[in-house]
This record gives sequence, C-alpha cells and structure tokens, in this order.
Amino acid sequence: MKIICIGRNFKNHIKELNSPYPDNPVFFLKPESALLRNGNDFYIPDFSNDIHYELEVVLKINRLGKHIQEKFARDYYDEVSLGIDFTARDIQQKCKEKGLPWEISKAFDSSAAIGDFIPVDKLEVGKINFHLLKNNEVVQKASVSEMIFSFDKIISYVSQYMTLKIGDLIYTGTPEGVGKVEIGDNLTGFLNDKELIKISIK
Ligand code: MG
Repeated sequence: MKIICIGRNFKNHIKELNSPYPDNPVFFLKPESALLRNGNDFYIPDFSNDIHYELEVVLKINRLGKHIQEKFARDYYDEVSLGIDFTARDIQQKCKEKGLPWEISKAFDSSAAIGDFIPVDKLEVGKINFHLLKNNEVVQKASVSEMIFSFDKIISYVSQYMTLKIGDLIYTGTPEGVGKVEIGDNLTGFLNDKELIKISIK
C-alpha cells in the first residue's frame, strides 16, 4: 500500500507557512513503514528539533482505480479517519530552500499516525468538521468544506498519475494551527466530535 499526502489544501495554512497558492493539488508520498497505529506513542526522532503535528482527514481507498473521473471518485472510499502528518519542519525548511525533495522531513518512521476508521455513509462528507486538542487545548479546527481541493478532486487528480489500490491512504491536508510537539504532550483528534486518534509524545 502507499500513503499519499496532500499539501497546501487550506488557505490559512498556506498563509501560516508562507507557501505559494497551488493551481492543482500538491501531493507527496510516505512509505508503509511510516505508519503509527493503534494509539502507539510517538517518539521524537533525534535528527530534528522542530517536529510539528498536522491533523488531517484520511481516506481509505476501497477499489482499484486509474484515471478516475471526479464524478465517480466518491465510489472509491467508504471509510475515513484522522491522521497526523508528523513533519520535521526544520529539515523541511532546509529542503525547500535548497529546492530538494522533502522525504527526509516527511516520510520517516512513525510520521504517519493513523486513527480508527469509521464508515463514511453515516456522515455528510462535505460537512465533516474536525479538530485537534494538544494537552486539552484546541489548536486546529476546520471543516472539510473549507478545503481548496475536495476529496473527489484529489482522488481524480492523483489517479491521473498513480493507480490507486485497495488499502491506499490519502491524507487530505491540514488546516492552520500546526505547531511543535514536546515530550509529554498529548494529541487528541476528533471528527464531528468523535474521538478517533490519541497520541502521546515521548
Ligand atoms: Mg500535511
């Protein structure tokens, strides 16, 4: 399986990182070895002094698909969850400055935390709200309706380049409020007020 991550999908997050506004979805990959499951602890790696959380809605692909038209994209997932796209912001910044790929800042072990999946037919997809608590304080809060590129647009766009396979995960982008984690922090993500992910930072 592969993990596809969308960057720059919320206007206020683009502003907070001074990133350019995208004409099309910006995406990158994480390997399967990046997955952090079952509420396991996240250990801050020794190569970074600035690991950030990025809470994102995650889609699980349930059908093989290539060149998927936007109007059919909704048929390619039926479960969603929340994930945290852990990012070594200090290393990412250096990569950006040098025009290098981002992988070492984004694809390291445990950088793709994933929560419990829930069926999506119980929700109105475009109206999903989600928020992240860091130590019981709200640090990120958004609605899927605020995304620049919808789930369907993302699936359609990515599948023009890469065949989507059953079990692939798509992290659909983070809203504003990203920030640094410290040892002892607790991160808890809610989708429509349902707790789906909880991670302790070690
Ligand atoms: Mg992200």
